[in-house]
Amino acid sequence: MHTFKSHFPAPSGSATGYDTLVVGAGFAGSVMAERLASQAGQRVLVVDKRPHIGGNAHDRHDESGLLIHPYGPHIFHTNSADVFAYLSQFTAWRPYQHRVLCSVDGQLLPMPINLDTVNRLYGLQLSAFDMEGFLAGVAEKVDQVRSSEDVVVSRVGRDLYEKFFRGYTRKQWGLDPSELDASVTARVPTRTSRDDRYFTDTYQAMPLHGYTRMFERMLAHPNIHVMLGTDYRDIVHVMPWKHMVYTGPIDAFFEHRHGQLPYRSLHFEHVTVQPPAGQAHVQPVGTVNHPNDHLYTRVTEFKHLTGQRHEASSLVYEYPRAHGDPYYPVPRAENTQLYRRYEADAEELSDVTFIGRLASYKYYNMDQVVAQALSTFKRLAQR
Ligand SMILES: Cc1cc2nc3c(=O)[nH]c(=O)nc-3n(C[C@H](O)[C@H](O)[C@H](O)COP(=O)(O)OP(=O)(O)OC[C@H]3O[C@@H](n4cnc5c(N)ncnc54)[C@H](O)[C@@H]3O)c2cc1C
Repeated sequence: MHTFKSHFPAPSGSATGYDTLVVGAGFAGSVMAERLASQAGQRVLVVDKRPHIGGNAHDRHDESGLLIHPYGPHIFHTNSADVFAYLSQFTAWRPYQHRVLCSVDGQLLPMPINLDTVNRLYGLQLSAFDMEGFLAGVAEKVDQVRSSEDVVVSRVGRDLYEKFFRGYTRKQWGLDPSELDASVTARVPTRTSRDDRYFTDTYQAMPLHGYTRMFERMLAHPNIHVMLGTDYRDIVHVMPWKHMVYTGPIDAFFEHRHGQLPYRSLHFEHVTVQPPAGQAHVQPVGTVNHPNDHLYTRVTEFKHLTGQRHEASSLVYEYPRAHGDPYYPVPRAENTQLYRRYEADAEELSDVTFIGRLASYKYYNMDQVVAQALSTFKRLAQR
């Protein structure tokens, strides 16, 4: 017997069934539920097997009262005015520009690689103009850019590749960059300027009261009912519904009939620390990357992201691993081919719509998932 483990009220008439069953209360599922309820007047049931809403973007206050992201640091950034306007209905924002330093050869150097990174690493005094010539001088000629290694060495040469990318990528993916699609490191730019912001998107901000508050407001519509701590498979044949929106792993939906799609997972170690007297933080910036030492890839201090004032501070250490919750689709050609077989199966099902990072088996950021959900809703609404 399943109980409604939710503080969200049941919509009147739920006994007669739901128009849409949404599997997953992350960005993909919550945006779809909100649109279907508020714009199409549908009765929507959102089911998540975790005991909370927000999916991987969920945040909460820990025992000390510090706002943390249990599934790793989530920084919102987008170039889409539509996505930003849509989410702004459910939250106010705190402007925040993320900065990352990389621990290399005993120094903390700006990441992405910029003019200061190169000058400080090699003890040079290059100008932005010289930097282009410097990079052209160290870059290796690669005839066909296929792997992540090709992308980086053809842009910044072997030494910067070895110091900043190789070890990080090997830890993060459990694979050498030479074995990974070019798309993985194509995301990381190189700058000839001194711009040390991690992202350069038009909109960069954090939800003022956190992600979970924003999700609560998205799901607060009276036609939406949320059922937490429940695997959809336990209710799918019990609860009447007409259409399903599925945002979990696509291979799990089809009971891995073509084999398992590989995902990379992470172990998060959350640590509460006391900054030195008179200081609010223990790190100079939000995230410090450790490409070459330790088993963890990076350490993030949440107070930089959240702007929270608190005498203590909370850090999260990220340890990549092969097993555990599915976080990152592994971008390799053979995995994409396997995904295509599941995608073909999904297209056969007219009563199920697949969206989100896991159902699309794509490395989507939050804003891309919101954009995908908004456009999918428009398509469904036209049917
Ligand atoms: C460590 C990390 C850091 C990230 N940092 C950023 C960042 O800084 N900026 C950014 O833009 N993006 C970031 N992302 C990406 C971001 O997390 C995703 O884009 C976004 O959360 C995807 O939303 P989603 O709804 O597709 O998936 P999810 O948030 O994964 O939601 C899917 C939900 O489905 C539920 N589910 C699965 N199977 C079932 C089932 N059988 N029954 C019921 N429920 C089920 C899951 O419990 C989950 O809650 C990061 C991701 C990770 C892993």
